[in-house]
Amino acid sequence: MYFYSTRDTGRVVRLSASQAILKGLAADGGLFVPSSLPALARGLDSDMPYGQFAASVLEPFFKDDELEDSLEEICSSAFSFPIVIKDLSHASVLELFHGPTSAFKDFGARFLAYSMERLLVRSGKKLCILVATSGDTGGAVASAFYKRKNLSVKVLFPKGRVAERQRKQLTCWDDNVESFEVDGSFDDCQRMVKSAFVDHEYSSSLSSANSINLGRLLPQMVYYVYASMRYVKEKGKKPVIIVPSGNVGNSTGAYWAMEMGAPIERIVLAVNANRTIPDYLESGQYRPRASVKTLANAMDVGAPSNMERLFNLYPDIETIRAHLSSWSVSDDEIVSTIRRVWDEDGYVMCPHTACGEYVRKTQLDGLDNVLLVSTAHPAKFDTIVEPIIGQKVPVPAALAELLGKESHCREISADYHELF
Ligand SMILES: *Cc1c(COP(=O)(O)O)cnc(C)c1O
Repeated sequence: MYFYSTRDTGRVVRLSASQAILKGLAADGGLFVPSSLPALARGLDSDMPYGQFAASVLEPFFKDDELEDSLEEICSSAFSFPIVIKDLSHASVLELFHGPTSAFKDFGARFLAYSMERLLVRSGKKLCILVATSGDTGGAVASAFYKRKNLSVKVLFPKGRVAERQRKQLTCWDDNVESFEVDGSFDDCQRMVKSAFVDHEYSSSLSSANSINLGRLLPQMVYYVYASMRYVKEKGKKPVIIVPSGNVGNSTGAYWAMEMGAPIERIVLAVNANRTIPDYLESGQYRPRASVKTLANAMDVGAPSNMERLFNLYPDIETIRAHLSSWSVSDDEIVSTIRRVWDEDGYVMCPHTACGEYVRKTQLDGLDNVLLVSTAHPAKFDTIVEPIIGQKVPVPAALAELLGKESHCREISADYHELF
């Protein structure tokens, strides 16, 4: 097992998982992908403790790696919160938001933080993590890396484009975590991070924690293996999984899980008004573009970075079309969906999850094996959700603790030099 860059077609440069995790982005600007997607271990069982389950799924990727012996310990510490499947009247919901910052990104961020800390303490090196966020990434990364040894974090977020509670989670830190409010869009923030990475003055001490980092992707694969196995155990059939998507890191995890043999019938991507992927599937022309602002702001991505990994997995448009379907959901449809689900089931969805539910209702209605991924707790988006349902959404305890802390950040222009 080795990892190579999506742009290195001859697979000339081969890295171990640990090397790829520390490096973040490949030197040629590509994203690291595994040399193969190994079949799942035969004894794998969703009744195993999750840390052990995760280590078993990840083991082949860490064969002979520096972290091989620590894998189970890393997984048990990182995944210290439950994964919940709830049944609604028309679908089951996979709640991935029970971690410390109430979004699925806690899985990837925490696995990455524990892995990096272990590697750096061993080597005596230090790294600064640069992370651009359209909402949830920064909070999850800040929380996961806070006070971790040999690591510091700079979080960049676009001014005026994150919800108040998201902003709070990005700015409530001190010690080794700094946050920057950028006068620009999320794509500007991403561009700044990319520029810093290729600037030799800074690049050697930098790493990424964005969903381009392999250490984020691998754990996102694990919960799809787990959830689909549990689903099959309980319902006796494979699920069609709907993934609310932006940078397609979460869904790439789902595709890797399926390719390893996880019992998944099909994967469907729900996007907001940022229609790059549905347009591509329709026209066959891939046209990344500037993002537009929506109510599901953690999915406001016009140039989804992990598409490069999906193109690597499914190299031509026909193969892509055979595996991907995707629909775009407008803000009005998000609002009406949150209201409908509340009326029908008394269940509150975040705006991202509502995109998935809208796609289910309009494209997959009548299917009795839909597993809808819920990417965040609705309490993170109280200003959107509460007026729609006419009620307060109770705040999970971990989130309440972060919201109670004091905020501070630096305002900067969209120039990466201001970060240093
Ligand atoms: C990040 C995020 C998404 C999008 O996930 P990608 O991996 O970027 O596709 C969806 N919903 C929420 C709540 C998120 O935080």
